[in-house]
Amino acid sequence: MPPHRHITPSASTAPRIPPGHIGPDHRFAADGHASRFACGTCGSPLDRYAELPSGTVSYEHPIWKNTDHRPVPVAADAVEATYVCDFCTDPKILFVYATAQPVLVQVDTPGSFVVRDYGTRWSACVECAALVEARNLAGLLKRVRSPVMAFEVVAHLSAMLRQVLSTLRPGRALSVDGRWEPHPVPATTLPRIRDRLAALIAGDVALPFALGHQAVRTPLAASLAIARLYWVDDEFTILTRNAAQVLPRLGFSPGDLPAAHGFVAWAQPVDARRRCVAASWSSHGDAVQLVGYRSVGDGLAPAPLQQLRAQVGWLIPAFAVTLRPGQPVTATHPAATLITTWRLIRQRLADTTPAKVDTSIRRAYQRARRPEPEVALVRIRGARATSAPAQHINAGAGSERDYRWWVTPHWRHQPYGPGRSLRDWIVVRPHLRGPHDKPISATTTVRVLGTLPPRPEPTAQAPTEGP
Ligand SMILES: [Zn+2]
Ligand SMILES: [Zn+2]
Repeated sequence: MPPHRHITPSASTAPRIPPGHIGPDHRFAADGHASRFACGTCGSPLDRYAELPSGTVSYEHPIWKNTDHRPVPVAADAVEATYVCDFCTDPKILFVYATAQPVLVQVDTPGSFVVRDYGTRWSACVECAALVEARNLAGLLKRVRSPVMAFEVVAHLSAMLRQVLSTLRPGRALSVDGRWEPHPVPATTLPRIRDRLAALIAGDVALPFALGHQAVRTPLAASLAIARLYWVDDEFTILTRNAAQVLPRLGFSPGDLPAAHGFVAWAQPVDARRRCVAASWSSHGDAVQLVGYRSVGDGLAPAPLQQLRAQVGWLIPAFAVTLRPGQPVTATHPAATLITTWRLIRQRLADTTPAKVDTSIRRAYQRARRPEPEVALVRIRGARATSAPAQHINAGAGSERDYRWWVTPHWRHQPYGPGRSLRDWIVVRPHLRGPHDKPISATTTVRVLGTLPPRPEPTAQAPTEGP
């Protein structure tokens, strides 16, 4: 059976465009990220059809997908679209390839035909990427086809793949659409993970967020190579995340930085989407470039995981921003957690001690005549000492709690520095309460967050920003 489609698209699913815009010269839908469509019902990216000669365009679920509903095309950015490898449909996408022109495959219909427009953008998982690199048509087809596929479908996919491989542009880009479970990186191997990241940045795979420019990636890689390394433990990460969520609007100051170049990994993801597990900063004059990173590799079988570590590593960029002195930053800024981490370290709420680094990594550094790799372990200063003794806990009915909980941090605009002559936002020391040998309850953190005091009025106490 030929791929199922709706011959008569409804008005809502088939925006009409002039017939003259159909065909290989028609690029607008194929290239731009903004013009990608996904199904508002199931989140699946949609394929584009052009009906000839009328030029009617419609959107359909991917050919391999069995769905029980009509597609509802919405801009892919409007839904959390679940992107998948365009070859094998695995959501663990790693690379994006581009073809020189849109891949168009004809589909015969009773008495006519339509053209399926696959566009120029091809997402690939690590295993399909290896086959694409090798121009291995048979290998790709083997991964793409399933035993239940009709002959026509296999022929269609084969024609599609042949076109992809014959019109492939050189190079590839890191995908930002892959679905990876966050996997925080351990302190013990942080120097190696940082080195791998620096090599990725210095390499030739195209990078997202305008990091791909040589004028950007060369200094970024150099900065990573000399970055001071921080690893933030669980409790400090929770504190940071909570404080970042109520970050008052403050102006960025280079004095916030604990080092000119740094790389920090958190024990838990820190952003609202729970993806970002690390970040770097690099100083270029007054400007500071911040890059957030997320982890890749979780859930892969050993062989493709090894391929991924060799080709990409552990981390890929999740966002990149540049900050200049005085630039306002709020709780919704992508780097709010990183800025909060700096402030907390500067405020001496942190207790930084050297973390243990893997012996094999230390030896490798020695052999390469590099300085001993150091990782600063960031913990809450005296967290255990401030835990109230169990008998002092008033837990309502007088029963002893079997967990510790947070008394929420908040920000206060208060004097500091020599003679207390300066004023700035600082985090008022949060308290960890409860028996010190008990785990920290995640739910109390959530509950505490629900009852936060209102954010300080930015206008009432805003730091002076000059005339
Ligand atoms: Zn759908
Ligand atoms: Zn794949």
